[in-house]
Amino acid sequence: MEKRFFVNPQDISGDNIILSGEEHNHLSRVLRLSVGQSVECFCGDDNLYACEITSISKQSTTLKVLDTAKCPANPTEQVTLFQALPKGEKLELIIQKTSEIGISEIVTFTSNFTIAKANDNKLPRLEKIAVSAAKQCGRTRLIALSPTITFAQMLDRLKDYDVVVFANETEDNGGLQNLIKKGLKIALVVGSEGGFSQKEIDQIKGIGAKSISLGKRILRAETAAIALSACVMYELGELGL
Ligand code: SAM
Repeated sequence: MEKRFFVNPQDISGDNIILSGEEHNHLSRVLRLSVGQSVECFCGDDNLYACEITSISKQSTTLKVLDTAKCPANPTEQVTLFQALPKGEKLELIIQKTSEIGISEIVTFTSNFTIAKANDNKLPRLEKIAVSAAKQCGRTRLIALSPTITFAQMLDRLKDYDVVVFANETEDNGGLQNLIKKGLKIALVVGSEGGFSQKEIDQIKGIGAKSISLGKRILRAETAAIALSACVMYELGELGL
């Protein structure tokens, strides 16, 4: 069981960290760690803090930072997944798996055929999924999440990217090889259960997106998001040693 704890940046002062709430309970009651033992902490940025437990009370644990290092497991290539809002728990699965794969940000949006309704009250729960995925896979920079935007806002945001890879089962512009290069700002676009209207497909291509087929079978939205992310991150060398 990993002895890796997530702290809020404001809980770090100098070379002391105060662990409270669920993380403190996990350390003191579940793992039953004791003073003098070593643990690792991260707060969502690039750093990994090697710490020693200096005191444990009912409410909190105090840690002393012994070393701060850049975490080697963070993605070096910045890839953003634009995901049309899927139903139910699918977004939680997408967050978990694309965190492990090394995606940097997920932006959800509504489109003509999205069935799920935008509900930003879910954001805190989704952020917890991001923290637990980071803990498990060893990255310290959390996958960035934000409130759901509209299709028009998504189109606007796509203009900021060097390459837009559009998972489009209706056509294929050829492979990723000559599309994906390190150092580029890359966006991926994947539809929800209902896919996109022809008008939306034309608009996404209209801003310069390249259509990529993920094969002759129709994938579920969550499968397509994970598969496309894995293909792109592999091309970028993020899924290799
Ligand atoms: N249009 C699909 C259909 O006919 O059932 C519904 C959308 S599919 C469930 C969800 C999304 O996954 C699509 O909008 C697309 O972005 C992506 N996708 C699924 N299969 C794909 C494939 N074979 N090639 C490229 N993208 C695919």
